[in-house]
Amino acid sequence: MPERITLLDLYPDELAQDIKKRGYPPFRAKQLFGWLHKGARFDEMTNLPNALLRDLKESAIDQSAEIVETQVSYVDGTEKYLFSLPDNNRVEGVLMRYKHGATVCISTQVGCRMGCAFCASTLEGCVRNLTAGEMLSQVLAVNRLLGDGRISNIVLMGSGEPLDNYDEVVRFLRLVSLPEGMGISPRHISVSTCGLVPEMRRLAEEKLPITLSVSLHAPSDEVRLQIMPIAKRYPIEDVMAACRYWVETTGRRVIFEYALIDGINADLLHARALAKLLRGLQCHVNLIPLNDVPERNLRGVSRLKAERFQKALEELHISTTIRREMGDDIQGACGQLRRSYLNSPDGEQEERLEDSR
Ligand code: SAH
Repeated sequence: MPERITLLDLYPDELAQDIKKRGYPPFRAKQLFGWLHKGARFDEMTNLPNALLRDLKESAIDQSAEIVETQVSYVDGTEKYLFSLPDNNRVEGVLMRYKHGATVCISTQVGCRMGCAFCASTLEGCVRNLTAGEMLSQVLAVNRLLGDGRISNIVLMGSGEPLDNYDEVVRFLRLVSLPEGMGISPRHISVSTCGLVPEMRRLAEEKLPITLSVSLHAPSDEVRLQIMPIAKRYPIEDVMAACRYWVETTGRRVIFEYALIDGINADLLHARALAKLLRGLQCHVNLIPLNDVPERNLRGVSRLKAERFQKALEELHISTTIRREMGDDIQGACGQLRRSYLNSPDGEQEERLEDSR
């Protein structure tokens, strides 16, 4: 069977081209775009001609991400989803409910090849990039579950390194913000990166008013090299230069993610070194309590120790918050749910099936 096209990958003009080739006028493409971006399936698109829908069903995909498992945290109500993709790969997403609205966290790759020591997403490497439509379909699946319009924020912090899949991620950012689609403003979207320097600079030039989060996790190359292989490619000085470029070009501050890891980066001397590194940069630091990854024998720190670290930064005028621990009991950290799926009898079976194909 020839490969089916993912309609959610297409910008409105591209969809219009596709629909024209199938012999239908532009208003049909508009209707179809509206349906797709509400998360609808072909069977629900009641005002489209049956012949067109038959044609589409044979050659195209409507929604590529389907929720196949949900876990709800009894601690804070955070929900974690396992999505199935058309090729049977699995990625995960998280929903966090805040007072001001719901934030959905989605994946950008199946797995990840960045190799961070504390991250479960990377343990099997990167299987493949997701397309823009596959990212969008994750958001739409959650949107359907909640009721249209409830999602106010999106963060690209699931599995994968967004800037290692640059073109599709930028396409996603543009698609999801179109008024004829979901209309979520880039101002309500965060892209998180482990620090791919050239792509950070390129992203600054896209004129997208998104929030850039940088997973720093260390105040020096010495510490960073222990936990993040990417530090070999881009020294921390280059990452900081790219952050300054971001602030100059976009006028927006940078958010630094810093997971406190016992015995590695969580002492007061690290806090002071971090404050020195960030001095003068328009930024904010998010301290993350590490979700323990048993496979790697890495542990987080106590609340008290996190508060001391925060206080040390604040005293040196670095604005800092400790991120609320969310979804710890539901494997809320990156890659943990997919990994437990891969380790389950079901997962093993499907992996074997994949192998024998
Ligand atoms: N690849 C991107 C985005 C995905 S990870 C990045 O590196 O930023 C989203 C965030 O979760 C990153 O800050 C990452 O470092 C962090 N993270 C990964 N594993 C974690 C764990 N076990 N505990 C806490 N945070 C973790």
